[in-house]
Amino acid sequence: MKICVLPGDGIGPEITAEAVRVLKALDLKFEMEEALLGGCAVDAAGDPYPEATQKLALAADAVLLGAVGGPQWDSNPRELRPERGLLGIRKQLGLFANLRPAILYPELANASTLKPEVVAGLDILIVRELTGDIYFGQPRGIEMRDVDGKHQRFGFNTMHYTESEIRRIVRVAFDAATKRNKRVCSVDKMNVLECTQLWRDVATEVAEEYPDVELSHMLVDNAAMQLVKNPKQFDVMVTGNMFGDILSDEASMLTGSIGMLPSASLDENNKGLYEPSHGSAPDIAGKGVANPLATILSAAMMLRYTFNQEAAAQRIEGAVKKVLAQGLRTGDIYEPGTQKVGTKQMGDAVLAAL
Ligand code: NAD
Repeated sequence: MKICVLPGDGIGPEITAEAVRVLKALDLKFEMEEALLGGCAVDAAGDPYPEATQKLALAADAVLLGAVGGPQWDSNPRELRPERGLLGIRKQLGLFANLRPAILYPELANASTLKPEVVAGLDILIVRELTGDIYFGQPRGIEMRDVDGKHQRFGFNTMHYTESEIRRIVRVAFDAATKRNKRVCSVDKMNVLECTQLWRDVATEVAEEYPDVELSHMLVDNAAMQLVKNPKQFDVMVTGNMFGDILSDEASMLTGSIGMLPSASLDENNKGLYEPSHGSAPDIAGKGVANPLATILSAAMMLRYTFNQEAAAQRIEGAVKKVLAQGLRTGDIYEPGTQKVGTKQMGDAVLAAL
């Protein structure tokens, strides 16, 4: 079981160190090796995704990533931006399925901006297609054209999906639903976009392979509304790259605590890249105050999806619940009456709970 660890930039090294400690405490035989990705790789090797990192990531069964980016690289040319490293590794590893759970722990019910009764007990999983859609479709660009009697700038992108791309991501959602509450909501915009009519048709076909799972369809504008109005109606939501980008951020904010949310990006064989949903938080980097729980929970997802170690995944998740019940909080989830702790203390507490 080989894990490539990419701490990255900002708070990345601080939070991955805690997740690595947790993985090491599990008595499972992992081989872990670290490499550079993002801004730190630009500084050290002149490349956000250097060859040495590529070699390690390709040879590993799973990748654990902190986060990349920071203001010091924002004015670099595009090929020397940290985000290029992230897009590069996702593309090279063929990570087409992005899984983002949005779970509200009962102890953190007040962290949400929504009323506690709307979000208490929330546990939904957004499955987003990651390698297709309008983000990658050709042709695309901005060019001068003669339109409406005017010579003017014209911007254009192309949305497309093949039925096999849709089928494989919808199957990921159904497989996940079989281990949860057995409901999938497929989100599209079939009333306007032909591409998403195909999405709906294929989702309906895939549903026939899973008689135990209930499929519903929802238009994306309604889905955005329902997520805020009554989010607990959902179990698994599956959608394309662009709608998923927006809805997964909306769903994560229902919980009010970005420092708590893990994510997984998987290929066809469940090799995966696991990372917290948040970024590199340059504003608090190096201060030892970042919340490591999203990264620790990402390690739990790694055990579940890549290594098929459900019991070990639940052990980590149980330990996280325990430290929250003990009242320990990093600054991002702190409220009066709880005990404020730093990154390392939170890691210590999770280890003790394990
Ligand atoms: P961010 O998620 O880094 O930070 C947003 C806010 O949340 C900040 O106030 C930050 O302090 C706080 N926060 C985030 N994670 C936290 C944690 N674990 N514990 C406590 N507080 C936490 O988003 P941003 O500020 O928009 O972006 C900062 C940098 O991160 C940018 O360079 C951006 O490009 C990059 N980024 C990277 C990824 C990634 O690596 N996948 C994702 C998003 C943003």
